[in-house]
Amino acid sequence: MPKKIITVRNLVKHYGTFEAVKGISFDVFEGEIFGLLGPNGAGKSTTLEIIETLRTKTGGEVTVDGLDLDKQPDDIKKIIGVQLQTSGYYPALKLTELIALFSGLYNTPADPQGMLRLVNLTLTAEEAEKLHEPGLDKKEKRRLLDKDKSKAKFKELSGGQKQRFSIATTLINKPKIIFLDEPTTGLDPQARRNLWDLIRDIRSKGTTVIITTHYMDEAEQLCDRIAIMDEGRIISIDSPDKMIDDLVNTGFERPKQVKSANLEDVFIHLTGKQMRED
Ligand code: ADP
Ligand code: MG
Repeated sequence: MPKKIITVRNLVKHYGTFEAVKGISFDVFEGEIFGLLGPNGAGKSTTLEIIETLRTKTGGEVTVDGLDLDKQPDDIKKIIGVQLQTSGYYPALKLTELIALFSGLYNTPADPQGMLRLVNLTLTAEEAEKLHEPGLDKKEKRRLLDKDKSKAKFKELSGGQKQRFSIATTLINKPKIIFLDEPTTGLDPQARRNLWDLIRDIRSKGTTVIITTHYMDEAEQLCDRIAIMDEGRIISIDSPDKMIDDLVNTGFERPKQVKSANLEDVFIHLTGKQMRED
């Protein structure tokens, strides 16, 4: 049996008289990518922020890696990484300076170049070497110079680059679990796929990932298990595959003949998979 790294029992959150979360229970297993899905206002961010110790709860119990949220919130903070809303960064600082700043806040030494390399915002050792090769193709040289964002300011990044950077900041304290609240909202298909690769890569190194998303294709591709929330309740929790099979077994059929490609496939086919201004 996989180990439970987060347990949530009968979690309740009231804002005044409004019941945003109405007694939900679920577990997250170590090493999985767990998705929280649901329409706007379902209570996803509220739930995440309570587990992240950033918001108080009205009732229920939460443990994170065996730590009780009520008794050991500071210990929980040390083992989790939280993606902040991207507007929260100092826009005029260079990326390396921002990483150094976070490193100071977390009291954890961090190698800014290494962190940026993790999220593909600076050159790999091979690419750095290539840059100094005599006779390097001009176009390739420009591509490499453009890829190195270490001296760029946060405000100069594209949407996808901002998201990748903010994911890098969640990794500074080498967390066991990271929380990503709608990391791909507003990104184009290439940037979204690039972020999926990054999230899979982070998980493959043993980090548990909790993510919210509005994109069902994303949840289907990325998440080991998902919980679907609506109006403060979890209405289903399982693997995407099992949920789809269960629906099919009820006799459900798509109203339209499904083609073997969709418009997004066309778009990716025409514009290519490589990153642009992501
Ligand atoms: P989601 O992330 O699923 O879109 P949220 O957790 O942000 O949902 O919000 C759930 C509900 O709680 C929404 O109806 C929202 O308006 C309400 N809500 C969220 N934060 C507050 C707050 N600080 N004060 C009052 N109501 C809030
Ligand atoms: Mg939200």
